[in-house]
Amino acid sequence: LPTKLPHTGTTIFTVMSALAAEHGAVNLGQGFPDFGADPALLQALTDAMAAGHNQYPPMTGVPALRQAVAAKLNSLYGAHYDADRDITITAGGTQGLITALHACVGAGDEVLIIEPAYDSYDPAIRLAGAVPVGVPMTADYRIDWAAVQAAITPRTRALVLNTPHNPSGRVATADDLQALAAIAEQHDLFIVSDEVYEHMVFDGAQHESVARHPALRERSFLVSSFGKTFHVTGWKVGFVAAPPALSAAFRRLHQYTVFTVHTPSQHALAAYLADPAPWQALSNFYQAKRDTFRTALAATPLKLLPCEGTYFQTVDYSAVSDLPELDFARWLTTEVGVAAIPLAGFYQRPQERRHVRFCFAKREDTLAEAARRLVAGL
Ligand code: PMP
Ligand code: GLN
Repeated sequence: LPTKLPHTGTTIFTVMSALAAEHGAVNLGQGFPDFGADPALLQALTDAMAAGHNQYPPMTGVPALRQAVAAKLNSLYGAHYDADRDITITAGGTQGLITALHACVGAGDEVLIIEPAYDSYDPAIRLAGAVPVGVPMTADYRIDWAAVQAAITPRTRALVLNTPHNPSGRVATADDLQALAAIAEQHDLFIVSDEVYEHMVFDGAQHESVARHPALRERSFLVSSFGKTFHVTGWKVGFVAAPPALSAAFRRLHQYTVFTVHTPSQHALAAYLADPAPWQALSNFYQAKRDTFRTALAATPLKLLPCEGTYFQTVDYSAVSDLPELDFARWLTTEVGVAAIPLAGFYQRPQERRHVRFCFAKREDTLAEAARRLVAGL
């Protein structure tokens, strides 16, 4: 067989979830809720199937869902996306990301990714024949715009932005987006903006979507996912919003990769989006979980890093152990009984830091049991 991605193993999320299951650990590794979705959303799915929405939808997605997405983006971010022309429903954020990257880069192009970087960016870029160029964040996980500028070459074609940021929990500021706009305009870059945690932003901060910034919006593929927003990661439904030329390029590939996405979920999500309350309540919902978890972890020697958004808490464990991150995450899972994700999984090159990430999208009793084990075992 021709070997694609020869240096790529199984994703760190799969590895750690398997290890957690094998050892009966509380799984705070892979990011997914351990509680149910809103019964109203589940009912809407049943209703959609009973109503006969079980055949192919239009290639670009169910119109009612595209309309709901466009209306939400336009009112939240002051954008002007057209539901028919500019919104495409995808099989989760993952497919949105890889298809967007394939639509805008090709052989020999370089794509900047901000490290630590979500693990699908690197292989998605390589599969397009392009070269991922990792730009390290600052020591406290801010985007280092001077380093971004310094990494640009005549071959740089695109940059992948992720805010709120997995795994650090940092949220980009308006100044960050201004800096990005200046660089993107100067070097004529495409932006693939991963905003799957757009509705999880804490302490009154505002999510800075590329859609809010006209200069960025016109060169960006905005990627989001209903899995995160509505606690249904297994549904794998998301969307990409992009201006007309970019959407046209995206759809040329989309039609021959997935063609369409699961029809009944799209109808259910369209109906559910009629009420803004669920996504409007999400930041407060997760902020309360973050606070509970941080308070519990304060009784351990783990050093808590700032968490401004997402459902991830990153910690520095150097007061506990000098093991490298992957070894520590394995030890924590097998000996302490709590699974975490080593940040090493988010870099192209080995790192010196001692950081792991916990997911707090969990029931109160799950978080309490994890904290009990961490307090007893560290
Ligand atoms: N981007 C980031 C930063 C993520 O954390 C995730 C979820 N793991 C995705 C993309 C993929 O989203 P989905 O599960 O909808 O494919
Ligand atoms: N995005 C999730 C995380 O960061 C996991 C998704 C996956 O398992 N690929 O944990």
